[in-house]
Amino acid sequence: MVTGRTMRRFEGKAVSDGIAVGHIKIFQKKECNVIRVTLNDTEAEIARFEQARENAKREIAKIHEKALTELGEAGAAIFEVHQMLLDDLNFVDSVTELIEREKINAESAVETTCGKFIAMFEAMDNEYMQARAADVRDIGSQVIASLRGTVQATPHDDERPVILVADDLAPSEIVRLDRSRILAIVTHRGAVNSHAAILAGTMGFPMLTGVEFGEEIDGQPGIVDGYTGLFFVNPDAATLEEYRAKQKEEAERAGQLAKLRMEDTVTKDGRRLRLCANIGCVEDVEAVLQNGADGIGLFRSEFLYLGAKDFPTEEEQFEAYRAVAEKMAGREVIIRTLDIGADKSAEYFHLPHEANPALGYRGIRICLERTDIFRTQLRAILRAACHGNVAIMYPMVISVDEVRRAKQIVEQVKAELDGQNVSYGEVKQGIMIETPAAVWLSEELSKEVDFFSIGTNDLTQYMLALDRQDSRLSVFGDSHHPAVLGAIRTVVENAHKSGIWVGICGELAADTALTEEFLRMGVDELSVGQARILAVRAAVRACTIS
Ligand code: PEP
Ligand code: MG
Repeated sequence: MVTGRTMRRFEGKAVSDGIAVGHIKIFQKKECNVIRVTLNDTEAEIARFEQARENAKREIAKIHEKALTELGEAGAAIFEVHQMLLDDLNFVDSVTELIEREKINAESAVETTCGKFIAMFEAMDNEYMQARAADVRDIGSQVIASLRGTVQATPHDDERPVILVADDLAPSEIVRLDRSRILAIVTHRGAVNSHAAILAGTMGFPMLTGVEFGEEIDGQPGIVDGYTGLFFVNPDAATLEEYRAKQKEEAERAGQLAKLRMEDTVTKDGRRLRLCANIGCVEDVEAVLQNGADGIGLFRSEFLYLGAKDFPTEEEQFEAYRAVAEKMAGREVIIRTLDIGADKSAEYFHLPHEANPALGYRGIRICLERTDIFRTQLRAILRAACHGNVAIMYPMVISVDEVRRAKQIVEQVKAELDGQNVSYGEVKQGIMIETPAAVWLSEELSKEVDFFSIGTNDLTQYMLALDRQDSRLSVFGDSHHPAVLGAIRTVVENAHKSGIWVGICGELAADTALTEEFLRMGVDELSVGQARILAVRAAVRACTIS
């Protein structure tokens, strides 16, 4: 592994954690030079484009299938987006119009159209939307490859597992990877919010972006540190030894944590904490059960809406909620009602364009106005409550009046179900505390509901006035800011005065540096992503709080 060449150290941005040691393979995308050709039979050319579009859709459907089996619905969702992009009328019309108007070949029309879309996405302010340019690039290459009768290059045909280095990787390229032959991914371009980064995390590869590399590193030994963002090429003996030791520690840590799967979440001096999981879809429940969570502390129901082309029906929602409730077999499942708006938007909602979407039309505000959507969801939740231990939680609350109105609608929906002889179960009702107003009013609010769950992601954003979507702002905020911790303490005190329980379901719940402090504050429940359950359980078991 040590070559005698000089070690080089690159700094990138860590987007998926883990450590990898191995040889580097640079993925060169085949240059796909498109030549513009003028032709007369535009009708035949449009038919050729249509055929290529169908072929590309079939190719993407195959990738979607593979992603579904290997990554589950969340990981495969992007390929549904790619199929939708291929059916997008703006895209199809633009290509056919170009062929007709300029009498050019389909390859050239596709390239020009994609270029237009890519420029539009790249010019947007929002990092997430900028990252969508990569998706357009991806489908453009699929259609052009299909017009040429070729299949897009697979990133890696090397036999041994490698550290894959690329300028950028499209989601479809990541999904095509043979996991057993990849150790880590390093790219030059690509945002933290890109689907490529999300998929790498789901597949369990360490990944860095923002690394400026030269072609000479191809085939050389390397080390990827997905915790710090460091990338070493030709590591010297000491660095290699250091990282081999870190890898060993990492494996030992995972092995130790696995032993806690069925253990209690209890401190050394006997204080029990309810440790729950956050999920976005039914498929997430498997890993939650494997790690022995006490319940679902947050089911982000809006993901059912985001993954759909139109409003999910009452039956579709009922099936999803029932499946989760049944799988959790008596353990509490807290379904958060639709928290759409801000970064989470679906076209069919036709939400207005907003200058400050995080401060705009979202969460309970939409539900209390669009009561048709809200009632459909409530009917599905109440019916699912016959099949398990289900609770309802309202997001983005800023006033007592909103909570009373939501509860009133629940009563109306129950009366409607009674009138139709449809059975439903009783549910507890709680709210998320994620606005400064809800903290301030927590004493009054605690008299209205059965529980509180603190959403520290939004609470931090609103208390510190720091956009949670903008990674450039992370240097200005401290996730342990005393204002946020003080707010949590106040909320816990006010909840307990009224005799209701209080949990935390934002990302801070998984921060083990704060576990002891949360226990001392009297927090009753922590709800975290399934991958963090064991680490938090270990942290609780290491505490003595009396
Ligand atoms: C939060 O704001 O902390 C939260 C859990 O909700 P979301 O991250 O879905 O906004
Ligand atoms: Mg929130």
